[in-house]
Amino acid sequence: MTQQIFVAGEWREGRGDPMVSRFPADGSINAEFNAAGLADVEDAVAAAEAAWRAPSWRSRQPHERAEVLYRVSELIKSRLEELAAQQTRDNGKPLSEARGLVASAAGTARYFAAACETLEGELPTQRNADFMTLSRYEPLGVIAAITPWNSPIASEMQKVVPALAGGNAVVLKPAEATPLMALKLAELFEEAGLPKGLLSVLPGRGSVIGEAIARHPWVRKISFTGGTNTGRHLAHVAADKLIGTSLELGGKSPTIICEDADLEQAAKGVAYGIFSSAGQACIAGSRLFIHRRRYDEVMERLEEIAGGLRVGHPETAGVHLGPLISESHRDGVAAYVERAREEGGRIRVGGTIPTEGELAAGSYYPPTLIDGLPHDSAVCQEEIFGPVLVALPYDDEDELVGLANDNAYGLAAGIWSADYRRALRLADKLEAGTVWINTYKKFSISTPFGGYKESGLGREKGRRGIQAYMQQKSLYLGLDHEPIAWSD
Ligand code: NAD
Repeated sequence: MTQQIFVAGEWREGRGDPMVSRFPADGSINAEFNAAGLADVEDAVAAAEAAWRAPSWRSRQPHERAEVLYRVSELIKSRLEELAAQQTRDNGKPLSEARGLVASAAGTARYFAAACETLEGELPTQRNADFMTLSRYEPLGVIAAITPWNSPIASEMQKVVPALAGGNAVVLKPAEATPLMALKLAELFEEAGLPKGLLSVLPGRGSVIGEAIARHPWVRKISFTGGTNTGRHLAHVAADKLIGTSLELGGKSPTIICEDADLEQAAKGVAYGIFSSAGQACIAGSRLFIHRRRYDEVMERLEEIAGGLRVGHPETAGVHLGPLISESHRDGVAAYVERAREEGGRIRVGGTIPTEGELAAGSYYPPTLIDGLPHDSAVCQEEIFGPVLVALPYDDEDELVGLANDNAYGLAAGIWSADYRRALRLADKLEAGTVWINTYKKFSISTPFGGYKESGLGREKGRRGIQAYMQQKSLYLGLDHEPIAWSD
């Protein structure tokens, strides 16, 4: 059966260009189908506009909306294996990682269901005796949710769930490479009883379908996760329409190993921070700063760890790194490493495209460790989005902070130190939306997430994650029986 898309509460053939979803492990075809067309965008937005305004959703109490989200959470858990397998076929993440992401998606639905049930307005304190004020939150309307390919189920649930919890409707545009996960999610929301039209899933080209959704006059917020250039472009689109955005963008996150760190724990944490997901993570710790006195020890240990990681078919148990999303992306990663070589960098581990065995069939790239480059080189400054770690020594804290912050991005940072006072002092000085101390790449849905500098605008997650999809209305209630006195 050809894959259908989910438009205005119905499954139908897309009216756009043909598209193909492939398994990055061997290039085999997951599905061939028609993408959404511009007519589908019109239908989806019109249905979304009607659906969020319909009294059946608008006047539903938050705890009643929460029921749908609880059911979604339960459905995700009950279909964990199927969804994880889909995630792996979509983007090549090892199954073990995909399972973790699916479980976290169930948690996202459960968390926002609970937050929705307890959603409150505010009673601001005021001094006047002749009136009182209160302030409440109302939905924005139709939300455009536009997502990348690296962790689709997580990024999609982090947008769709709080937006629905806030009483909005969502038109979701998944990445070209990973349309199937989002369509599976649509099935679950439908099965959970979400009223028709509140969610549409429109796979298609970003520059055509994504752009048309973002520009649609009825769309009242653009919630985007993806590259910084696309985010900047969408910020312009939103500025023209005077609507809000939430932008979760790229990163080139520094990790710091202090002189006093537990080196074994730090080296393993650093390797996990960059090489898990084959480095295709916005928060990948891709720049490593090591105190000069421990530099050689750490680098030797990292060589052993990186050299021992298993690259292989993502459906095989025990594999640490699956393939990259596509051959062209893999070639882009390899080109950065070539550039590092030409600029005098030392490739201490990895650095060549595998050409033998099962790895030759997919877009694989090995864990790669580089040093010997100046901090202003492209490999130190630009987001590579692959399993490439570049290391530099540092001598003192001021120099370290200067280097760590000398980057356009500010998404995350990691600090490994036995001294929490030192670590907290450094954390204060780092320009990053998330700082991990003696851990890395750990997430809690109740903790807000977002970037400094060119890594983004706005925050996702946390209790205020729902209010990010709402607008505040203030009410003044007069208490006086007398006419208003003129102040003259
Ligand atoms: P991308 O910017 O190329 O695409 C992201 C999405 O935007 C896709 O769905 C794409 O189709 C769509 N798009 C592209 N052009 C568009 C346009 N003109 N109008 C509307 N939509 C458009 O990013 P990608 O390559 O899919 O993802 C990788 C990037 O995402 C990396 O830079 C990574 O750091 C970033 N990312 C950030 C976070 C975060 O939370 N900060 C999380 C994951 C990924």
